[in-house]
Formats: sequence, C-alpha cells, structure tokens
Amino acid sequence: MACVLCASSNEVEFPSEIILHFPFSGLENLDKNGVFVYPKVLVCLDCGFSCFTTPETEAPALANGVGRQMKARNRRSVTAAEVERLRIA
Ligand SMILES: [Zn+2]
Repeated sequence: MACVLCASSNEVEFPSEIILHFPFSGLENLDKNGVFVYPKVLVCLDCGFSCFTTPETEAPALANGVGRQMKARNRRSVTAAEVERLRIA
C-alpha cells in the first residue's frame, strides 16, 4: 500500500499505546479519564503521514465515554481508498 499523502511505499507499521481523551467543553468531561488504545500505527518514513484504526475491542469504551452506542453491525476498518476520498473532500 502506498502513502495516501506522498505515494511513497516507504511505510512501516509500529505497535503503539495511545491515550485518547474525551472532547471537552468548559468543565464538561474534564473529570473523565482517557482511554488507552493499542493500535498499530502506519507511518510513512518519507513524509511522516501516519494513520491508525482503533481496535474494535477498544472502540466501545470511547463510544460509552461520549454517551453514544456503537453500531454492532457493519463495523469494519476504513480502506485506504476511503481515506483518500476523505482527504480530497
Ligand atoms: Zn508519505
């Protein structure tokens, strides 16, 4: 797969641990702990563009934290083509 930003094939996938904090407005959500997620991050070693997909097993904790429910069906990873379309829009 080529980098969606510069088309380089010089990409490497790295294991990671990331804390995602909930969006806040004023004092709302400031008291909530972040959620640890452990995605593999794909990094372009030429331009630095990076992307990851939150693992399905970890996404419900994020949905719960923002007061939403995940759709149980039709969950899947975003394809590279979809990422490209989002970047163009
Ligand atoms: Zn790149």
